Amino acid sequence: MDIKKNDDIKLNIEDMTSEGAAVGHYGGIAVFVRGAVTGDEIIAHIIKTSKRYCIGIVKEIITPSPSRIESDCPVSDKCGGCAFRNMTYAEELRYKQSRVENAIKRIAHLDVPVKDIIAADKTDGYRNKAQYPVKTENGVFTAGFYAYKSHRIIPCSECKLQPKEFTKILNVFKKWAEKNGITSYDENKGSGLLRHIYLRKAEKTGEIMACAVINGESLTDEKFLIEELKKNENVKSVCVNINRADTNVILSEETKTVWGKDTITDELLGKRFVISPNSFYQVNRSQCEKLYTVAGEYAALTGSETVVDLYCGIGTIGLSLSEKAKRLFGIEIIPQAVENARLNAKLNEVDNAEYFCGDAFSGANELEKRGISPDVIILDPPRKGCQRELLELIAKMAPKRIVYVSCDSATLARDLEILDGLGYKAKEVTPVDMFPRTPHCEAVCQVLRSDMNS
Ligand code: SAH
Repeated sequence: MDIKKNDDIKLNIEDMTSEGAAVGHYGGIAVFVRGAVTGDEIIAHIIKTSKRYCIGIVKEIITPSPSRIESDCPVSDKCGGCAFRNMTYAEELRYKQSRVENAIKRIAHLDVPVKDIIAADKTDGYRNKAQYPVKTENGVFTAGFYAYKSHRIIPCSECKLQPKEFTKILNVFKKWAEKNGITSYDENKGSGLLRHIYLRKAEKTGEIMACAVINGESLTDEKFLIEELKKNENVKSVCVNINRADTNVILSEETKTVWGKDTITDELLGKRFVISPNSFYQVNRSQCEKLYTVAGEYAALTGSETVVDLYCGIGTIGLSLSEKAKRLFGIEIIPQAVENARLNAKLNEVDNAEYFCGDAFSGANELEKRGISPDVIILDPPRKGCQRELLELIAKMAPKRIVYVSCDSATLARDLEILDGLGYKAKEVTPVDMFPRTPHCEAVCQVLRSDMNS
């Protein structure tokens, strides 16, 4: 059956995609529609066709799904963030659970028990970090978020996922920008000063870092901005990130502190962690504690183990387990994060930890050459997962257990299949909902050397 652009077709929504679009089939062709929910019967207006699939928008909801709820955010249908805001949280959890289960079955071709997803206590206000693209037009400043797969800014200064304080801080930037006629960055021309406003809050201590990402060397009227930001006593650090490149990457490597501390400090599982602007830090603190607790159970340390924390960021997972480890090594590619990890070890009086800056493979290779044989390896790669050569090297290093923390179930599944072929059996997976209302899904998996399985 042919579908043409601008057709209106009746569609039953069968499932959601990993990017948060709803999917149904029409004459055997998959039709993707954002804003619909599994179980909806809709009229979709087709905006794009290709041989294998079509893209539509919701024109009319004929029969709403029992899982459909009214979105409580005025921009959720435009902004690329909360794809699941018109779905019940119960349905979101069911979907995330099935996504992890399906990945393990269909991509890894493994039969691994998947525990019930660990739900979030709060589905709003859980994020501790925001990066707002900004625009100034006719002297009016707006901050917001990009529309899905676009660089069109959807104005939004009161995102439900962010701490309420961020709105006040954005208003300070607005006051400063409008007072000084600050220009916003134009991607096409490479001109204009302000690119993003990057805010981070250490939830436990309340400390806030405010960073302006600029296409320039310094801020106009910096003093005014700092004085206004300081009125919020939680603001402990004001920075400028200098990003003059023609790139979609938000932060460059160059960040200067213009007032206050270079880092903010948060607490996780009773330990303190300093965080630099360029370092990775989990965005959902309370779910992160639950994730690390499961990771700790899967590591099953007794006090005699050598642990290698690959992709360690500021050292959080390894350090949260350090009391039960004999020795701890961490490897991380971002230099500021490695500096943070070293300081975090000191802050928490951990003297059995050593950190290396570099790629996970070269770092692990270095450890192997030094004759270090880990009992447990923790893997927490970015979405693209691990390279095959790293997994092969890990198998050569022969740890008893691997704890694989993943933010993408498809690459987790791919890597679990590779590990299976290398004699490492996935034993159990626990999904953790770190990103409520968005399609992102975290999972942690225990993998055992085959001879440890029985
Ligand atoms: N385990 C940490 C960080 C996880 S995020 C935590 O829970 O907070 C993944 C980390 O891997 C980031 O800090 C990122 O900077 C780092 N990274 C990305 N590519 C890398 C590579 N090739 N080698 C080593 N680290 C890498």
